Amino acid sequence: MIEKQICTRCIMDTEGDPAIKFESDGTCNYCNYALERINKVYFPNEIGKKKLEDTLVKIKEYGKDKEFDCIMGISGGLDSAYLAFLGSKKWGLRILGVHVDDGFDSPIAKENIIALCKNCEIKLITEHINREQFMDLTRSFLFAGVPGICIPQDNVLTAVLFEIAEKYKIKYFLSGTNFALESILQRGNLHNACDTVHIEDIHKKFGTKPINDLPLLSLYDRYFKYKYIKGQKYIRPLDWIEYNKDKAIEELKSVDFNYYEGKHYESILTRFLQVYYLPQKFNIDIRKSHLSSLIISGQISREQALNEMQKPMFDEDKIQEDIDFILSNLNLSRTEFNKIMAEKPKYHSDYQCSNFIKYTNIALKFRKYLSD
Ligand SMILES: [Zn+2]
Repeated sequence: MIEKQICTRCIMDTEGDPAIKFESDGTCNYCNYALERINKVYFPNEIGKKKLEDTLVKIKEYGKDKEFDCIMGISGGLDSAYLAFLGSKKWGLRILGVHVDDGFDSPIAKENIIALCKNCEIKLITEHINREQFMDLTRSFLFAGVPGICIPQDNVLTAVLFEIAEKYKIKYFLSGTNFALESILQRGNLHNACDTVHIEDIHKKFGTKPINDLPLLSLYDRYFKYKYIKGQKYIRPLDWIEYNKDKAIEELKSVDFNYYEGKHYESILTRFLQVYYLPQKFNIDIRKSHLSSLIISGQISREQALNEMQKPMFDEDKIQEDIDFILSNLNLSRTEFNKIMAEKPKYHSDYQCSNFIKYTNIALKFRKYLSD
């Protein structure tokens, strides 16, 4: 058995991660790459202030004769909530908020979304998708035994957002993606959510119902059609301010948004993924990525992160409640679920993937080889 190795700067380690590599000083590829990028993408300074001001002028100019300046997905998570709050309350943007009700919202997330939009005067569209088809697709990912069981969710959310933006003729998308809280993400098990070749292959093998009524977004749509043909733009303003997690949580209380512990716990499905499915089946603890990101952006020390890791990942009763909820939504029996959990993990590369993904992966590996 290979002994566990942990990075000497952040807390990423070898557990469940085939992609981690270490330098001779004991630091890992994730934090070294994040530090390489920090000054290129994160501007919590005068440069960021200027970028933000210039962009706000452009967005407002474009939205001048329209009902909205920009659009954003509101999941009930911290990043999108804080961005919606800043955008509307501090920067004066007229935001169209979009939420997709996929059946996995936690009750607190629902309350938070309503309070946030009401108090920030954001118009909210809640889109209801074909629940039966969505559940069947998510269920097929669980049967496939791959790590990314939230790929259908991520895809559908993005697809709906693009559709609504087009309908309302909105060009600017506010994205809560950010460096400060997300610079490190374990790469070994990720797969692009817009790979419809992959989605269709898994569904063909494990699905039981058609998925023709789901709005799915392909790689072509996501990275070419909307960007180059339709000219839509993704803006990441949280990279232009000093984005501090504790400060954001505190400020959001003024609009009755109450943060709950855990990144992406707003959805019962992502909570299950992070606290149960990935750790139990793949030996992946996603808290390491979140805490390591906070170390890199200087919000906590490595020691604090290690202390945080000592806390139990979940409350046993609570997680059983979540599992029951998920099984009932996905129409799965406990026996089927236990079998899935006990089976050998599968990886995304075990199923068909788009050639674009394959070639990009090859290109990335080649570049890495050259830079080495
Ligand atoms: Zn590291």
